Parts: sequence; structure tokens; C-alpha cells
Amino acid sequence: MAMIYLDNNATTRPLPAVRDAVMEVLGDGFANPSSIHGPGESAKGLITEARAGVASLLGARETEIVFTSCATESINAALRGAVAATGKERPRVLITAVEHEAVHDIGQWLEAEGVEVVVIPVDGGGVLDLVRLEQELRIETDVVSLIYANNETGVITPVEEATRIARARGAMVHVDAVQVVGKIPLDVAALGCDMLSLSGHKFHAPKGIGVLYLRRDARFRPFVVGAGQEGGRRGGTENVPGIVGIGAAAVHMAAGIPERRDHLGRLSGRLEERLLSIPDSRLNGLPAGRVPGTVNVSFRGIEGSAVVLTAARAGVCLSAGSACSAAQYGGSHVLEAMGVPFEYLHGAVRFSCCETTSLAEVEEACGVVETAVAYLRSMDPSAAK
Ligand code: PLP
Repeated sequence: MAMIYLDNNATTRPLPAVRDAVMEVLGDGFANPSSIHGPGESAKGLITEARAGVASLLGARETEIVFTSCATESINAALRGAVAATGKERPRVLITAVEHEAVHDIGQWLEAEGVEVVVIPVDGGGVLDLVRLEQELRIETDVVSLIYANNETGVITPVEEATRIARARGAMVHVDAVQVVGKIPLDVAALGCDMLSLSGHKFHAPKGIGVLYLRRDARFRPFVVGAGQEGGRRGGTENVPGIVGIGAAAVHMAAGIPERRDHLGRLSGRLEERLLSIPDSRLNGLPAGRVPGTVNVSFRGIEGSAVVLTAARAGVCLSAGSACSAAQYGGSHVLEAMGVPFEYLHGAVRFSCCETTSLAEVEEACGVVETAVAYLRSMDPSAAK
């Protein structure tokens, strides 16, 4: 049974070029980049090259790129680092209601530390309420964190506009751009943000490597301290294989964005067409204004996780909401924030494609899901009433 993998927002398969580059480093590039002998210098050179690749993907300066272990670490460093740099007794932070758990949970952590954290709502389509953001910014605010494209629904936040409003009020802005790499051109100058987080494993690099873009004048207190690596902004011996992997992936993803976007857009269109033809189904998130390749559909009265498990038996890999919360009990805070009706709330299934996903795979997966939904409803005839 061939596997059909439509769970790319959870993680992606490393590209062949990435695997080759990483394997080479594991073999010959093992030295410590801080060592001053030849192999150490070579390892340092590999990091410099990878940093240039990531900087170019973001339109940033090389010195503004900090390698971390994952986006969760980048987000921790960004929010905790920016808050600590204020030196205030009670700093103020705004986050959106549809942030990934990484931001959401740091918000709660900061609150427990005495920070004022305000959550800005979204509308029924999942889009940030800019009027409310502007109102909240009338009170002196230190940091605003914005998810660029939601991991569950793909809904895009108007980050440029929100950043402009926030910066005009003197707040620093962090953007969680984990789900947009290679799908939307990224340019930190055009975005105007102070900080931005990326995760390697979401764009065909290995796990264990992330990026924090830190604008050169950003107020920031390092979070992981020690031995001065990454310009003193993130201590610890560098993960050279991971860094080389993310550098190779960044170069790949920076190219061919229009073609990738068109391909993913066609796949999303077909997924929506077929899945919404299933009775009592609902698209979660705006019909337009989502990142291409992500489709979140609820099937009334049945559990999304039951659809995921039934489809998995036929070799189709999907997710019910976000993979990070898949093992936790309870509904999605993202769908709840959007006001998804109760009878659809637990029936959400996320389909997420990547550039190598084919239309034939999408067609086959839709067939499997149609059968799964019909089967589950036949087990509980009250479900489709
Ligand atoms: N932000 C978003 C939008 C995500 O989708 C994820 C992962 O699902 C993260 C942050 C956390 O990324 P990582 O797994 O690198 O910690």
C-alpha cells in the first residue's frame, strides 16, 4: 500500500539535496566551528554559506540570522527576549487568538511572570480584527506577535498592515512565518517586522533546526546564553548538519515560488471541490486568502480524529487540527476562536500538501475520506442528521 502524505504542515520530508548535504557534513564536516584548525574553519565556512542562503530567503542581512533548534525556541527567544529587554515591571504584549501553541503557551507563561498579555480576536473566516488591534495599541504596548499563515486553516494574517500599525505605536513585532516558506515571498524589509521565526522541518530541512530573524536594531536579551555563538544571541555549539540542511532547503524554497503556489493552489481547489461535496461538510477558514496547499474541512457530527485514523488504515496521512495538539484532548482553540459551530468543532480534518504532492494523490485521498466519512456515519446514524 503506497502512502499518501497530506500532513506537510506537521512536518515535511527532507529534500534529496538536503539529505545529501547533511550526510556529507555528518561524514566530513564534524569539527567544531569554533575550533581554529582547518576542519573547524571548514565547518565555520559551511555555517556562513547556509546563513547567506537563509538571509537571502528573507531579504535579511546575514548578521540578522540566528540559528536555533526549532521555531518553538525562536518564538521563546523572541518574545521572552523582547519582553526582558524592556526592563519594565509590567510590559504589555499582544498576540492573536489563532497563534500556534508555541506563542499561545508563552503568552500564558509571560502572564504568570507578571506581563500583561492581551489576545486579539479573529472573525469567522479566521482573519485578525485590525480595528481591535489598533484600539489595543492605543495603550502603550511593547511586543506584538502575529502568525503569518495559520497552521490549522492556512488563513493569512494581514501582517504588513498589522505590523505598520503596531510599529507606528512603538511596539516591536514578531512574525511566526513557519507555514509560509516557499509559498509566499518573504521580505522582512517589506514586512517591517523586528523578529521572525522559521522552522526547518516545515520546509524540507531536518528537525532540530530553526531560525530567528532579529532586525539589527531590535531590542533583545538573549535567552540561551553561553560561549558567544551566533553573535552572543544564542549560545551552544552549532548544529552544523542542521544548519547546512536548512541552508540548502532555503535556497530551494526561495526559487520557483509562483510555480509552487500555482501547483498548491490547484491541489487546494480540488480538495475543496471534492471534500465539500460530502454532505454536511464545512470549510474552516476563508475560501480565499489562505496559504495554498492547506485545506481544513469539518464533517458534521463525527470526530476528525476518527476520520484521520480510518484514512490512516488506507495509507492516507492526515491530521485533525494541528499535529502538535493531536495527542491532547479537547477542541482546537483556533476553530473555537473563529466561532465554528459546536457540531462541526470536533469534526475538523486538515489536509496539507507540498510541492511534490500530485493531483492523483489528492484524488485518491479524497476517495478514501469520502468512504471513511460514510463508514463512520453508518456506525452512528444520528451523526449526519
Ligand atoms: N508555529 C507554527 C505556525 C507551526 O505550525 C509550528 C509547528 O507546528 C511551530 C510554530 C513550532 O515549530 P517547531 O516544531 O519547529 O517548534
